[in-house]
Order: sequence, then structure tokens, then C-alpha cells
Amino acid sequence: MLTILSQHTSDVNRDRAYADLRRRFATWDEVADAPAPAIASAVRRGGLGATKAQRIKAVLRELRRGGALGDSTLRGSSAEETWRRLRELPGVGPKTAACVLLFSLDEPYFPVDTHVHRVAKRLGLVPERATAAQAQEILQAVVPPEAVYELHMQLIRHGRAICRAPRPLCEECPLLDICPRIGLSRIAGRRDAGARLARLARRDPLRRTGPQASARRR
Ligand code: SF4
Repeated sequence: MLTILSQHTSDVNRDRAYADLRRRFATWDEVADAPAPAIASAVRRGGLGATKAQRIKAVLRELRRGGALGDSTLRGSSAEETWRRLRELPGVGPKTAACVLLFSLDEPYFPVDTHVHRVAKRLGLVPERATAAQAQEILQAVVPPEAVYELHMQLIRHGRAICRAPRPLCEECPLLDICPRIGLSRIAGRRDAGARLARLARRDPLRRTGPQASARRR
């Protein structure tokens, strides 16, 4: 539930929404049986309440088909079996499934969110054109299990603080000497080209050398 509530919101608002949900409903069965608008109202502080309510309800109902609902519903099976069950749930993609396994069940699965995806590509850990799902498969295969949690967290922290999406702080980055900075020359190039164009457009001499100016001169 925490993973669903974390979509497109901050950790703080995710936790608020989760606390509100647990306060509003005494059991997960109650949530599964509640009307979607009631769930949406309970989780509204996390944003996208209507969408998340539908997803929460669908997931709980599907899980209930396999037995009673509880905080230990997914425990007791092998990691592979849990992965398969999670991936069959409505709206649960590889990132969400890996988050549940890593954070709730302490299994070494490597979720790839937007920060991990971006940083891994820039560092050349995965191909530049790899989708998030492909990047997850690659990292899952090569990262030693004992390093999964720490590396995942480090990449997220690094992506938030230094290797930011629009303007990475490469000059402050401790990885600068080993980073190929894949994809960044194009970003810098586009930005520079845009800045150059804006600067040129403000310059009168440029306008006077355009075709209309040439016609006036004739
Ligand atoms: S050097 Fe730049 S691109 Fe490479 S990891 Fe650091 S911030 Fe990201």
C-alpha cells in the first residue's frame, strides 16, 4: 500500500496518506470492501486519490482471493513466487513489485525509479536507450544481493541532490572523474543552442542583416 501511495508524491505526503488510511479503516478487509470514493478521501493528502483508491481496492481484492488479508499476506512464499504474484496484481509494474520485495520483505530486488534510471544511464551502468524496466533487469542481474539496498538508496540520493534531471551539478559531483556523463552533452548543447538563439534574437544588428534588411538596402 505504501508503494502505491508513493506514486507521484513526496515521502512525507505518502506517509500522511498511509496514516490517514490506517486511521480511517480498522482492517485491510474494510478497505477492500469500502467504496472507492471513501478510500480516495482517506488518501487524498497523497495526491491522485481517485486513481490510487481504485488501485488499492483492486490489489486488496486480488490478494484476498489468495487468503485472508493482513500485514503478513505476502510473507511465507519464496521471493520468486512473491514477485510473480505481485506482477499479476492490477497496476503493479516491476518497480512497485521490487519496492515491495526490497522494503517490506527484505529481498534483494532492485527497483528502478526515475532517479535511479537517469543516474544509471549517465554513469553508463545501463545503455542510454534502456527503459526503466530494462535497466531494472540489468541492475538486478549484476548488483550483488548484499549491495542492492545501499546502492539503490545511494543512487536515489545522488539523483535528488547532485545528478538532477535538468541541471546536474557535475562540478560538485564526487563521481566526476569516473563518469562518462552519457547524454549530457546533448542536454548542454540544446541549452546552449537555446541561449545562443535567445541572445542573437535580442541583437539589432542580426535583424538588420536579415532578408528584409537586405531588401530595404536594395
Ligand atoms: S558527473 Fe554529472 S552526470 Fe555524472 S553522476 Fe555526477 S552529476 Fe551525474
